[in-house]
Amino acid sequence: MLNYDLAVIGGGPAGMAAALEAKENGVQKIIILERAAGLGGILEQCIHAGFGLHYFKEELSGPEYAHRFIELVEKTDIDVKVDTMVLNIEDGNIITATNNIDGLIQIKAKAIVLAMGCRERPRGAINIAGSRCSGIMTAGTAQKYVNIDGYMPGHKIVILGSGDIGLIMARRMSLEGAKVQMVCELQPYSNGLTRNIVQCLDDMEIPLKLSCTVVATHGKERLEGVTIADVDERLRPIPGTEKYVECDTLLLSIGLIPENELTRMAGIELDGVTSGAVVDEYRQTSREGIFACGNVLQVHDLVDYVTIESKLAGKGAAKYIKGDNFCGEHVFTKGTDGVRYIVPQKINKDTDTDVNLYFRVGAVYKGAKLVVKSGENVILTKKRPRMCPSEMETVTVKKDVIASLPAGETITVSVEE
Ligand SMILES: Cc1cc2nc3c(=O)[nH]c(=O)nc-3n(C[C@H](O)[C@H](O)[C@H](O)COP(=O)(O)OP(=O)(O)OC[C@H]3O[C@@H](n4cnc5c(N)ncnc54)[C@H](O)[C@@H]3O)c2cc1C
Repeated sequence: MLNYDLAVIGGGPAGMAAALEAKENGVQKIIILERAAGLGGILEQCIHAGFGLHYFKEELSGPEYAHRFIELVEKTDIDVKVDTMVLNIEDGNIITATNNIDGLIQIKAKAIVLAMGCRERPRGAINIAGSRCSGIMTAGTAQKYVNIDGYMPGHKIVILGSGDIGLIMARRMSLEGAKVQMVCELQPYSNGLTRNIVQCLDDMEIPLKLSCTVVATHGKERLEGVTIADVDERLRPIPGTEKYVECDTLLLSIGLIPENELTRMAGIELDGVTSGAVVDEYRQTSREGIFACGNVLQVHDLVDYVTIESKLAGKGAAKYIKGDNFCGEHVFTKGTDGVRYIVPQKINKDTDTDVNLYFRVGAVYKGAKLVVKSGENVILTKKRPRMCPSEMETVTVKKDVIASLPAGETITVSVEE
């Protein structure tokens, strides 16, 4: 049994930021456990620019952003075990992991940070009629083939889903010489950042078809084409609108799923909307001493926010290890009228920090305002010229306001048009 003060599961930007912040706050023995061959997480395959604008105030590629943190980790005495897959977290914060050097290992930690990121929804998550021919894969898989392995997965491409990964891959495949026929999006709005729609579709003259989906794939050994159809307001394909589109590759960018298998096994309470843990303002989960941050907690659009959130988790873990605990009374948060969820879901009443509430809205709003209330009392309002589900929103609630609320009170955030 190895003994550590803090064990961090996942060595992506979230895990590294949490470990570094814990170190900065005086935690001695820290280990990062990462199942891939190196630190960096998904950023290693994101060779496009657009990372770090908020955190570093400069535009970096994914690997550049990751390496700023890898270099910082290397300058510390934080232990790192790569090629190491965590299998389980038992009571008493005992982690079981495996790799091909140590075999099966057990680590006992005073605190744990969960930073396992998320994975893409595969074809099986949606019902598309057709055979299991080759040429159908997630956009992230294609990204790895092109950017890491040096393979071109196809030449005539249709992309289903206009999330950021789909948009980035539309541009990437075009730059590599493929013809991207179109990006189809089920919703009446794109699910990607505005800057990615402009830079990846408009600049490359790739059509975006909204309220449209792929209803069938064609081809036996290799994909030969897909049938697309318009959808109605309930997102059901409209009979008679089907069109055949020739392609040898269908890339799916249909959402991300936080990798919470370990979290679930550890009996930690999950939020039904985010699919991540229910946490407080320092990202402590329902299990004392276990924290969660990054994409495993909520799907972020920008890595900069992952870093900011993960530093909070690292600081929270350091406070917990030092025994610097709060009184145990909470106020709660809830999204209503257009706000789908809020992270954190609860806040320590005697918190020592102003709290940023992060959330997403459920539709596109223009010229609306966000209203933060406790009961009928308005805490604050914030005007927003435009809000859409693809871009995370935030409001800040001051610690004095939180302290003034009765224990058990709920802070709501809603959209007013
Ligand atoms: C295609 C694409 C384009 C993007 N473009 C941008 C952009 O332009 N700008 C921007 O700011 N952000 C962008 N992002 C988002 C950004 O990459 C993510 O927000 C960020 O990487 C999330 O960090 P993370 O550490 O939470 O997760 P990850 O980077 O996914 O890291 C999680 C790590 O945990 C490890 N892990 C999981 N389970 C286990 C286990 N059981 N045991 C051990 N290790 C485990 C994984 O191997 C992985 O390394 C993009 C993402 C993608 C996929």
